[in-house]
Amino acid sequence: MAVTLHGANESHSVEETVYPLDISIIIPVYNEEENLALLYQGMKPVLEGLGRSFEIIFVDDGSRDGSPQVLAALNAADARCRVIRFRRNFGQTAAMSAGFSYAKGAVIITLDADLQNDPGDIPMLLEKIDDGYDVVSGWRIHRKDKFITRRLPSICANWLISRITGVKLHDYGCTLKAYKNEVAQNIDLYGEMHRFIPALASWMGISVTEIPVSHHPRKHGKSKYGLSRTLRVFLDLITVKFLLSYSTKPLQMFGSVGVLASAMGFSIAAYLSYDKLFRGNPLSNRPMLFLAILMILVGIQFITMGLLGEMMARIYHDEQKKPIYVIKEILE
Ligand code: UDP
Ligand code: MG
Repeated sequence: MAVTLHGANESHSVEETVYPLDISIIIPVYNEEENLALLYQGMKPVLEGLGRSFEIIFVDDGSRDGSPQVLAALNAADARCRVIRFRRNFGQTAAMSAGFSYAKGAVIITLDADLQNDPGDIPMLLEKIDDGYDVVSGWRIHRKDKFITRRLPSICANWLISRITGVKLHDYGCTLKAYKNEVAQNIDLYGEMHRFIPALASWMGISVTEIPVSHHPRKHGKSKYGLSRTLRVFLDLITVKFLLSYSTKPLQMFGSVGVLASAMGFSIAAYLSYDKLFRGNPLSNRPMLFLAILMILVGIQFITMGLLGEMMARIYHDEQKKPIYVIKEILE
């Protein structure tokens, strides 16, 4: 049983958390009726072989096929299988987030329900966690998905995410990952953000590593995603970058752009005024005038936006009792 220290959400103090279980497996499920029993049978021997206490949390994300019945049967047969059922389809990220909230294990492992991830890789992930890493990410070296719609966008996205977030991973999209529970608890998830957990968590100063994992083609059911996800992931990346770099200092970001724009606008306006007043050149036929006006206005808007951002950041951290830091330990 793990005893860990982390900044609690309720107070800014360091709190000891004792987790009732060793491992929580979290599985988002959306219309996967043919896969669930096979998945359970694949996981059971692996998990039992570890000799640690575990639970398997299936989060049924509003499935409209027979998945709820299969899950109820699994739950009835094995009390270690817990099921969280959503009222409707909220998306994979929401499903994983619900799993994190209910997980009782010191280590959380997420994997897909469609048998594309291999439960046989779980012990490898756990070994890395035991070595002291906070997050271990799977890397699907031989990914078995369509090239144009899935693998190519993913290669570009992974490159971009690495560059922008500074967390170097080859395969953000792989659901098979292991986290220490306290890392997962400190993250708020929205949109398509489950793939950004390692990046979002990086602000806490965590250690992340990745290991090659197996990947299988989907045999039953259909993939829920297509090319359109690329755009959503890209937009989420902008949010993540903002959260990571500027959320506690929005005025520094918006304000610097604003001051720069205003300064340029004022310089142009000053030059034009000088030209008009002392050299008698008319202003009426000079497009530069519009540029000057535009830049001054845009600049003021950016500064105002930054100030509003500052207020929102304060409200956000106050209301949610969200510290702007995470403590590892205190030696008294
Ligand atoms: N999933 C979910 N809610 C959704 C879409 C997907 O819970 O709205 C689950 C799905 O059942 C699977 C995992 O998320 O377990 C990954 O989905 P999928 O296999 O379709 O994605 P891909 O592997 O094609 O990226
Ligand atoms: Mg899949």
